[in-house]
Amino acid sequence: MQDLDVRLQQLAHKRKSLPEHAEIESLTKDHTQLRDLLVAAQTEESDCAREQTKAEQDVDQVRRRAARDQERLDSGSVRSPKDLENLQHEIASLARRQGDLEDVVLEIMERREAAQARVAELTERVASLQARIDDATARRDAAVEEIDREVAAVTKEREVVAASVPADLLGLYDKLRAQYGGIGAAKLYQRTCQGCRQELAITELNEIRAAAPDTVVRCENCRRILVRTPESGL
Ligand SMILES: [Zn+2]
Repeated sequence: MQDLDVRLQQLAHKRKSLPEHAEIESLTKDHTQLRDLLVAAQTEESDCAREQTKAEQDVDQVRRRAARDQERLDSGSVRSPKDLENLQHEIASLARRQGDLEDVVLEIMERREAAQARVAELTERVASLQARIDDATARRDAAVEEIDREVAAVTKEREVVAASVPADLLGLYDKLRAQYGGIGAAKLYQRTCQGCRQELAITELNEIRAAAPDTVVRCENCRRILVRTPESGL
């Protein structure tokens, strides 16, 4: 039963310390960071889109006003030299303004394209990271499933063994196991307790030798249950 309990402890430890746990944690951290960068790039892209629409409307407005002025000039309805001069002056000033606003549009478009490229790059990186997380998760799940299958088999085996052990001895064993780092019973091997690795005193060995086979004997030193075998050196 002690061997089975050690096996269960090892399986629990193996389950907890699968390398996939750390791998998934680290990949998830990277994924979260990249997602944040992606959201920032998407926000930048939509901000640029809004700015571009606004700047294009500004250009349109100036263009329409210039066209109106040009029409008035071409129609010949403005006669006074002073008004004509003002109109020509305004048309020239609107042309300059339109040029400036078109530069603004171009600058926004460049920023927008850069943001779009960044969104595309980050989307790809997030997807590839997600694929690696999915792969590691599948590997972890398979490993956990295999361990759980073995845990179930060992647990069943333990139940069978436990059924053959008297209740009070089982209680003592479980109590000692909880108290002494999972080892409640140890083999007596060549006069040495395998629980604490101490060689037993002659008087103690004599007592054990004299004890009936079904007497529960315990290590004088660590108090664990001692299991006698042909190799105990008695
Ligand atoms: Zn001992």
